[in-house]
Amino acid sequence: MASASTTAPTIASAGSDRPRVCLLHVGGTIGMTKTPDGLRPVPGVLERYLAGMPELTGPDMPLLYVERLDPLLDSADMDPHDWVRIARAIIERDQEFDGFVVLHGTDTMVYTASALSFLLSGLRKPVVLTGSQLSLEHVRSDGREHIITSIIIAGRLRIPEVCIYFASRLLRGNRAQKIHNSDFVAFGSGNLPPLATVGVGISVDEHLLRAPGPGLPDRVELVREPHVAALRVFPGVGRGVFESLLAPPLEGLVLETYGAGTFPTRGREGDEDLIEPLRAATSRTPPVIVVNCSQCHGGIVRQDVYAGGRRLTAAGVISGHDMTPEAALTKLYCLLAMGLSPDEVRRRMGEDLAGELDARAAEREAGT
Ligand code: ASP
Repeated sequence: MASASTTAPTIASAGSDRPRVCLLHVGGTIGMTKTPDGLRPVPGVLERYLAGMPELTGPDMPLLYVERLDPLLDSADMDPHDWVRIARAIIERDQEFDGFVVLHGTDTMVYTASALSFLLSGLRKPVVLTGSQLSLEHVRSDGREHIITSIIIAGRLRIPEVCIYFASRLLRGNRAQKIHNSDFVAFGSGNLPPLATVGVGISVDEHLLRAPGPGLPDRVELVREPHVAALRVFPGVGRGVFESLLAPPLEGLVLETYGAGTFPTRGREGDEDLIEPLRAATSRTPPVIVVNCSQCHGGIVRQDVYAGGRRLTAAGVISGHDMTPEAALTKLYCLLAMGLSPDEVRRRMGEDLAGELDARAAEREAGT
């Protein structure tokens, strides 16, 4: 995976006191074109369409600088190295810009947005990820409005968060999930309302916003590549699935459970109890950190409610509270990759680091 960045045509000229926005193009359908191999992001496509959008140079628009981060990728091809190269690109340019727009594929956008929220701790300005369901080449592309509004949000609004702008809604990135592969409303956020909604005006829900941080770190340091996985529990899942997945070198697992965070209390016929492999994994040295997230798109994990959930607690599984499985997986990866001890990772998985969870939500619900 190359990490070089190529400067593409800049839309605006310098020397103005207008806000400055850096648009980083990393890939996705928005800048794709049809090739004999199917849709692919091709350098030059985005630049050609941006050059044909007079709206971008209007007096009310922030000054825009466009950069392509090579290689442009379908987001299905992105991995944690790509999260780091995007984070580095933002940190390197932080002093020069008032906000950032990242043009990214929708398929793994919520993973990248979550990872950026953990890697860019201390953020003071907007980082808005957007993309589109239809390429800019398409006459009905949703990409044009996404680009224009994201640039306005990044340049003009004080939202010190990593967000996703899509279909008139600005979502906190680490709370979002891709919910549809063809509707224009491609993202939802079951546990947090939009930070802003866009109609004739842009209405920001100020009380949801995080406070600005002290500023970005000097660099992003991921010191190793940890082994993490996710497992969606399903009726009839066998003990062997747990045993093989939890075997060393696994270090972290996001366990996607049913409803309020519950889990089968009996094994499949002929299988022994499913809880045993989990208990063994969380108590070995070094332990596997197992985080419980619900398969539901909204609601809170409450391991105290059902017998199955209580058995998870007894087996050393920790609650993912109201985190999405995507946020939990990227958080687990980033904390382990930073070189933190398993105890420290376990502790931080239950804390709100970047607005990804509300650790008091379960208590509040239990109290009602
Ligand atoms: N496969 C594309 C991607 O994630 C889908 C999209 O951008 O909408 O890069």
